[in-house]
Amino acid sequence: MVKYAIITGASSGFGAAMARVLAEEGFGLILLARRVERLRALQEELTAIAPHILSYGLDVRDRTAVEQWSEQLPSSIQKNTALLVNNAGLAAGRNTLDEGSMSDWEQMIDTNLKGLLYVTKAVLPWMKDQQSGTIVNITSIAGKEAYPQGNVYCATKAAVDQLTKSMRMDLLPHGIRVSSIAPGAAETEFSLVRFKGDAAAAKAVYQGFQPLVAQDIAETLRFIVTRPSHVSIHDVVIMPSAQASATQFRRD
Ligand code: NDP
Repeated sequence: MVKYAIITGASSGFGAAMARVLAEEGFGLILLARRVERLRALQEELTAIAPHILSYGLDVRDRTAVEQWSEQLPSSIQKNTALLVNNAGLAAGRNTLDEGSMSDWEQMIDTNLKGLLYVTKAVLPWMKDQQSGTIVNITSIAGKEAYPQGNVYCATKAAVDQLTKSMRMDLLPHGIRVSSIAPGAAETEFSLVRFKGDAAAAKAVYQGFQPLVAQDIAETLRFIVTRPSHVSIHDVVIMPSAQASATQFRRD
C-alpha cells in the first residue's frame, strides 16, 4: 500500500526539493501551493519514479479552501497519509516595526502560522485514525533567535517552534511524531519574495558566503522520515558553515 506525504509550498525551494526526495523514498505525493502550473511540471518530472502524485492549487491562508481540499481528497489517500510537511511560508519585507507594512504582517501571520494550523487540523484526524504518522514543521533560525528588522517573521517562526513542542505532547498518545527543521540562510526564492522581486537585494543576502541549498533541507527531511518508528527527531537546526547565529556570518 502506498503511503502518502502531503507537502505545502511544493512549487519552489525546499518544498520542491523535498518532493523529489520523498518520491525517491517511495511516497505517494500530495503537492500543494498557489502556483499550480509549477506543481504540474514537478508532477510530470516525478511521475516515472512516483506514479501516485496529485497536485492542488491551494492558498493555505484560505480556511474554507483548505477545508474543501481536505474533504474532497480521496479517502484511500486520507487513510494512507503518513507524512505532513508544513513548509509553505514566507518573509515579507525587512523593516523596523514602525516602518513595516500591515499587509506584510498579515500575510506572514496568515501563511506561516494560521495556514499551518488549518492544514494540520484537516490532516490530523487521518493520522489519529491510523494511530501513526509524522508531521514536520519547517521553522527557522529566526524562530530561535530574533534579528534586527525580522520582528514579525521571527515571531511567526517562534510561534511555530512552540506549536511544534505542544503538538508533540498532544499527539503522543496517538503515535504521531512531530519534528521541526530550523534552517539558516538558504538560497531559494525566499529573498526574492521577501524583497518583492528585487533581484539585487535578494542576491546581496547570499554575497560572500556559501548558503544552504534546498537539497540540504530535503536530505535532512529524508533522515527524519527514514528513522525507524521508535525514533523521533525533535528538532534540527541546520546552518551554512559560514553562519554561526541568526546575525553572524563569515563573508569573503
Ligand atoms: P520559497 O519562496 O522558494 O518557497 C516558498 C513556498 O511556499 C512556495 O512553494 C510558495 O508557493 C509557498 N507558499 C507561500 N505562500 C503560500 C500560501 N499562501 N499558500 C500556499 N503556499 C504558499 O522559499 P523556501 O523554500 O526557502 O521556504 C520554505 C519555508 O522555509 C518557508 O516556511 C520559509 O519561511 C522557511 N525558511 C526558509 C529559509 C531560507 O533561508 N530560504 C530559512 C529558514 C526557513 P506559491 O507561491 O506557489 O504559493
